[in-house]
Amino acid sequence: MALCPLCSERPGKRYCPAKDVQICAVCCGTKREVEIDCPAPCPYLKASRLYEMEKERRIPDPVLAVKVQKFDNGFVERNHQSMDAVCMAVAEERLNAPWLVDTDVIEVYKALAVTMRTLSSGIYYESLPEGPARISLFHRLKALLDELMKPDPGGNLRTVKVSEAIDVLDFLTVAAEANSSVRPRSRRYIDWVSEMFSRDAPAQQSSGLIIP
Ligand SMILES: [Zn+2]
Repeated sequence: MALCPLCSERPGKRYCPAKDVQICAVCCGTKREVEIDCPAPCPYLKASRLYEMEKERRIPDPVLAVKVQKFDNGFVERNHQSMDAVCMAVAEERLNAPWLVDTDVIEVYKALAVTMRTLSSGIYYESLPEGPARISLFHRLKALLDELMKPDPGGNLRTVKVSEAIDVLDFLTVAAEANSSVRPRSRRYIDWVSEMFSRDAPAQQSSGLIIP
């Protein structure tokens, strides 16, 4: 049996779709979503997401988690349209930027929340995240939120308030963190978003997403 090309030590027993070679179980387990960009259909990635979630789950920002847990039962009902729109925009952006990872999305949600908080105090100032991929996603989501917050002269559409946009972003941040993992290239959350909110995704109910 050929040796695993990643460590050149152990026999390559698992087919790695990202590397297109047989790699060893140890490299698969330790380098998965750390230095390997694992594609969503990989059976080893899927299995690890099922079994390792408990010990690898990322702990959400404690301040935001406390805030979000105080939201009443009607929160999701009142805001699901804005939340769906944001998730759809993330899925759309990902079509052009397949390298996006969960941390990028989480940092963009946070930067948008900071921007909205500044806006609610009457100052227009964008707190941009770092790096072109994040900035591109930031601009897409910012344009969407601006649209949702624009007053509708006909009064037919509900206008989202700045405070509501902040709550939605805080909620999405906690949901994303709770559904990601500690692996730096984790795409557990963004794969879920793509699956649920892609234009051609079948309309279905959430499969195992943890709601904060
Ligand atoms: Zn190896």
